[in-house]
Amino acid sequence: MPSIDTEGLALRAGVKPGLRISADALGAADIAARYQSFGCFVALAHARIGRDRRPQVLVYAAPTQQGALGLRAAEHHLLEPHLSDRDRAFFTRELGLRLGYPTCCVDAFAERILRGSGRLHAGDRDRHDDDYIAASDGWVARPDWRLNSLLMRQRARLISFTPCRLDCPAALAQAVVLHRLVREHAAAAAPVLEDMLQRPLVIGRAGARAWVRRIDDRICAAEAPRELPGGATEAEDVDHARSWANASLDGHGHLLGAGQPAPRLLDFSILR
Ligand SMILES: [Zn+2]
Repeated sequence: MPSIDTEGLALRAGVKPGLRISADALGAADIAARYQSFGCFVALAHARIGRDRRPQVLVYAAPTQQGALGLRAAEHHLLEPHLSDRDRAFFTRELGLRLGYPTCCVDAFAERILRGSGRLHAGDRDRHDDDYIAASDGWVARPDWRLNSLLMRQRARLISFTPCRLDCPAALAQAVVLHRLVREHAAAAAPVLEDMLQRPLVIGRAGARAWVRRIDDRICAAEAPRELPGGATEAEDVDHARSWANASLDGHGHLLGAGQPAPRLLDFSILR
């Protein structure tokens, strides 16, 4: 699938006040030049981020210089290694609001940081994958596929934040605009993106994901997600997909007999 720059489309259409992209040094120079050619202001920062702490360049782009510098200043605090949960929650909220994410979704994100990253409930000892916790918190019986933010590794998404609920009206209002922009500006890629986001998805407590087919209360097939067509899968996803095929479900999307806390089904195929 050709990569769709949904955030760039949103920024240029004026529906997003700013954006943040991480890239290697060469990629960052290209990205900065591209946004400057659109008339945006750009600020840069250097940091080690992500699962492997690789050195990256952070590019902040906004319609005003103040906007770009404000984004950089908000994230600057988050890059300090020994930050208290309280400060992390505060500056994460600040950055999220400056990126134009809905207040309810930003507040929910900050609440999870205060609860203790990876904890399903306040006071829990065990920690789990943050996306799993967010998906559990935001679980609804009829999640909206346009809010599916669980395929970022496969570069499939409309929104670039975690919604507070998988039917959050404020998040959906943004997703609808982004969907329209994608259809207008990346018409060839839109059907592939829609297909990927609309597949029922299971996420496990360690963050593994699988695309599944269900019949009533049973998973009847599961496969690791991949960038379509023909992208690579992640080994961890392949292993979990195998173990989840044939699992039964309860009424809240928990896979039964797959350990605790249970993997969750998000059935993005229920269209509205
Ligand atoms: Zn929300």
